[in-house]
Amino acid sequence: VAKRLEKFKTTIFTQMSMLAVKHGAINLGQGFPNFDGPEFVKEAAIKAIKEGKNQYARGYGVPDLNTAVAARFKKDSGLVVDPEKEVTVTSGCTEAIAATILGLINPGDEVILFAPFYDSYEATLSMAGAKIKSITLRPPDFSIPINELKNAVSKNTRAVLMNTPHNPTGKMFTREEMDILASLCIENDVLVFSDEVYDKLAFEADHISMASLPGMYERTVTMNSLGKTFSLTGWKIGQQLQQLFRAPDSYYEELKKDYEAKKAILVEGLKTVGFVVYPSSGTYFVIADHTPFGLNNDVAFCEYLIQEVGVVAIPTSVFYLNPEDGKNLVRFTFCKDEETLREAVKRMKQKL
Ligand code: GLN
Repeated sequence: VAKRLEKFKTTIFTQMSMLAVKHGAINLGQGFPNFDGPEFVKEAAIKAIKEGKNQYARGYGVPDLNTAVAARFKKDSGLVVDPEKEVTVTSGCTEAIAATILGLINPGDEVILFAPFYDSYEATLSMAGAKIKSITLRPPDFSIPINELKNAVSKNTRAVLMNTPHNPTGKMFTREEMDILASLCIENDVLVFSDEVYDKLAFEADHISMASLPGMYERTVTMNSLGKTFSLTGWKIGQQLQQLFRAPDSYYEELKKDYEAKKAILVEGLKTVGFVVYPSSGTYFVIADHTPFGLNNDVAFCEYLIQEVGVVAIPTSVFYLNPEDGKNLVRFTFCKDEETLREAVKRMKQKL
């Protein structure tokens, strides 16, 4: 394996999902729904395939799709973007992240991340040869330590990679935090890469796009995806699915309502089991402190949880430059049907 990738192993999501299958455990680890995406989406895909839309599409997206993306972004953020010059279509957001980083970061460029972070950020930044600095968000509210941020951002910083609503904590960046980050980026001429794939799963506050803040549009790359919004995490290319961007408001309202009910089942359940559960405002994840159960660290706890209890969670230490920072915390997802969530809670109540 190439030197730049030596420190990276199989992603924690694959590891934990494989263990879930092996042990017949309920998988509240990797974030994928155990229910299907909506009928109208599947019909649209079948129709497009039957209509013969099966050859190479224009590299940066078919014209209708780019127009639909721009219209959706205007509706959500108020920003007017040029669908031909400022929108590009990628194969999932992971490709968008990779393309953005590899396209804009030179070896040695400094990039600031907020830990815990989605693991592909660190891997892709390493591929680009970036110098990574991380700022740790801590419980209970995972708010940005403003002084640390001010000390971290300088003329040497090329970019800040942010994610709101935030995986794995469920934190949503507040307007105040974003204003401070924006002014630091403007002052120091820093780019922002903003991963907003959970924007439709914003429960406690309205989602704010970083690009919509004054002075930020020209220095922000906004990245999004359809996988979470339409419960189709295995679909990576939406070339022909411009209809999705025109989904009625009622679809998004329903989605949020369903997820709020699921979230309540899991959060209340985890509390009755005895976890310390930290508030999650968005995404379909929630962070819990496992230390009431007496295991040494997050990995040991998750192993015990799989083998003895039959439930999978994600240990969070892999999401930090300093793994110690995550040793008390595990991530659960609630993107599962209600019966599955109840069964997982029942197992934990009986066996933890
Ligand atoms: N984004 C999802 C999660 O955080 C899936 C991750 C993955 O499969 N790599 O669980």
